[in-house]
Amino acid sequence: MTQPSIDIEALARGVLAGERRALARAITLIESSRPDHRETAEALMHRLLPHTGRSVRIGITGVPGAGKSTFIESFGLHVLAQGKRPAVLAVDPSSPRSGGSILGDKTRMEDLSRDARAFIRPSPSGCTLGGVARRTREAMLVCEAAGFDVIVVETVGVGQSETAVADMVDMFLLVLVPGGGDELQGIKKGIVELADAIVVNKADGDLAAAAGRAARDYQNALHLLAPASPHWTVPVLTCSAMERKGIDDVWRMVETYRDTMDTAGALGERRARQAHAWMWNEVSETLLQALRDDPRIEKLLPDMERAVVDGRLAPGSAARQLVEFFRRPLATH
Ligand code: GDP
Repeated sequence: MTQPSIDIEALARGVLAGERRALARAITLIESSRPDHRETAEALMHRLLPHTGRSVRIGITGVPGAGKSTFIESFGLHVLAQGKRPAVLAVDPSSPRSGGSILGDKTRMEDLSRDARAFIRPSPSGCTLGGVARRTREAMLVCEAAGFDVIVVETVGVGQSETAVADMVDMFLLVLVPGGGDELQGIKKGIVELADAIVVNKADGDLAAAAGRAARDYQNALHLLAPASPHWTVPVLTCSAMERKGIDDVWRMVETYRDTMDTAGALGERRARQAHAWMWNEVSETLLQALRDDPRIEKLLPDMERAVVDGRLAPGSAARQLVEFFRRPLATH
């Protein structure tokens, strides 16, 4: 079935005017895996790129149950109260869009999603983390072009998605809970090293004192890590996302971070580094997809994979043979 072609100029104008329908359509286009949509999406991104870059990009991670979505809602509402517009995106490679394991669940962030000035988008469905990350990066830029001031990218706190998110944001925030004294609650040290700030959530009721103690413990533990930036000391704050307390401190800290890093030139550097790395990620993803889509490779693959699994062929040789085969011009076959 042929689809009507997409008027990129009209779509771009709609996005730049901040029209929600245009924004949603643009993101749907970005998320499409159809090759012709991909080309159209690229043209759209090219058109929007000069209008991007003005927002604060914040990544948020933490184990399930830490209170990330409750925090994002309180934080988003606070951002709105400051006269700024928040957009919330998610990176969850494991959940299909309708699975509801992350932002797809309608009951989460109810107050924020009801506010017409905010925008919430669940994780795109996609088989690879690379695919999900690319779509989220582009969605982030589209939101910036549409005039959102604060982009929050949430990750589920398991697997590799934290690195992908840390690689696309200005600031990476780790949400923890006061947890009976155990050091960093099984959060991988690598993740803690990615954090530009730690927020101990659930600092309310019976947990308030424990939250304060946990914050001090974490702050001490952080002294043992090498600082990620010479311009910034990772702070540990406490808040109650549920009671919406301490959220203003987190927002002030975000603003201080942004100003400090911007003045030092570190923010621009970080974004430049991310753009460079993104390009190479795209190269890897595109090449890998092209290789997988090649009918010659498809024919070879079952035997080759079996040979590798059975130990008859070294994985390294199999990989090299596949790539060599792929590089041969089509006409020679
Ligand atoms: P997520 O899985 O990290 O997104 O966590 P949720 O936001 O879904 O919260 C997990 C549970 O912790 C829910 O039952 C929340 O009501 C609760 N919770 C979230 N924030 C707070 C808080 O600040 N204080 C308390 N006491 N509970 C909270």
